[in-house]
Amino acid sequence: MAELTDLAVIREVLTRHGFSFSKALGQNFLVNPAVCPQMAESCGADKDSGVLEIGPGLGVLTKELALRAKKVVSVELDKRLLPVLDETMQAFDNVTVVNADILETDLPALFAEHFSGMRVVVCANLPYYITSPVILRLLESSLPIGAVTVMVQKEVALRLCASPGSKTAGALTVMADYYAEARRLFDVSKGSFYPSPQVDSAVIKLTMRPAPAVDVDSDERFFRLVKAAFSQKRKTLCNAVSAALPCSKETVLAALEDCGLPPAVRAEALTTAQFGDLYHALQKRGILTG
Ligand code: SAM
Repeated sequence: MAELTDLAVIREVLTRHGFSFSKALGQNFLVNPAVCPQMAESCGADKDSGVLEIGPGLGVLTKELALRAKKVVSVELDKRLLPVLDETMQAFDNVTVVNADILETDLPALFAEHFSGMRVVVCANLPYYITSPVILRLLESSLPIGAVTVMVQKEVALRLCASPGSKTAGALTVMADYYAEARRLFDVSKGSFYPSPQVDSAVIKLTMRPAPAVDVDSDERFFRLVKAAFSQKRKTLCNAVSAALPCSKETVLAALEDCGLPPAVRAEALTTAQFGDLYHALQKRGILTG
């Protein structure tokens, strides 16, 4: 099979299929030949495991995954790419392309149909316009996903891999940390893509924890607190939480005191465990109980 990272090959295939890039679908295809093998090697796929890929494009990463995994299921929204993938994936009988929007896909049904009894990892060069919802959907899914290895914008990688309790942390940091251990694997420059995006990228790996990082009775209500705390960056946590939940400032201050946290503390200073303590202290006062 011709090299799918070779620009001449890409242009020839795309011209023959009458394909033009869609910016709206985040179509920046990888042309740096070192990147896909490195992603496929790091994602944890092996001959016993299944891989869920999101947005195969021309199949450049799909091919590397197919060489290492038992089975690859690639969800691609753009149906113009289906005949292209038929051609580029011809040599592989362990690749299934599903024409669907990953945000609308019934993931439990997809897993039951394709990955029954298999260990599964996710590996993808994500379309950047849906990075956060896709990652959260996968983490929240309760499906047997071992790890999520994805290319994201560098800025999002820094946010996701920040330590909760540090300046770069945000709601996404704490929500990801609740489910998984995040690690930035390597950076990828704009020039590694065709066409080149505006921003640099990085590959991150989220390794699922056996159990969430804190013991709470409802993920949804815990995330309501985390989002409320980060809802107004320049405000103190007390002001942001009391405005967003809503509840009185006195209640939040009393809960902060229970946790040994100062009244003027900001959301980014709290670790995930401290968010768990605050959640329980607020629940003791009848907040976030239903
Ligand atoms: N994997 C290829 C590569 O690395 O060269 C292409 C990656 S490109 C950044 C993102 C891919 O996701 C495109 O093929 C695009 O059509 C597809 N895509 C965009 N939105 C999608 C969605 N909601 N669901 C599934 N695929 C989507």
